[in-house]
Amino acid sequence: MLRSRRRQAHTAPPRPRRQCTPAPPKPPHPAAKKKPTVPCAFCGVLCMTAWHLKQHEQGRKHRNRVAYLAGEMNVRCKVCDVHLSSGLNVEQHNAGKEHLLRLKLNRGA
Ligand SMILES: [Zn+2]
Ligand SMILES: [Zn+2]
Repeated sequence: MLRSRRRQAHTAPPRPRRQCTPAPPKPPHPAAKKKPTVPCAFCGVLCMTAWHLKQHEQGRKHRNRVAYLAGEMNVRCKVCDVHLSSGLNVEQHNAGKEHLLRLKLNRGA
């Protein structure tokens, strides 16, 4: 028994081969994109994250720096009669409600 129609393999089109296309530009790696953005106000160093800053704050270098600054500035709010540990605290304190209130009262008196 003859099969009149046989599939002719050789007429089949060649399978399209994957072309070697240039890879699309990779997006920058998220880790590489990260920049240290959390500054230590005392040492002027930049930490990657708040966690890193905390680690830094526990370091001796940082503590020495803070102690040095506090001693150097001998920061104390005369209005509230409180000792402030650093210049940064002074700024925060001076902007605080309690301080402003006391300042007002002192001036009014
Ligand atoms: Zn520091
Ligand atoms: Zn004050």
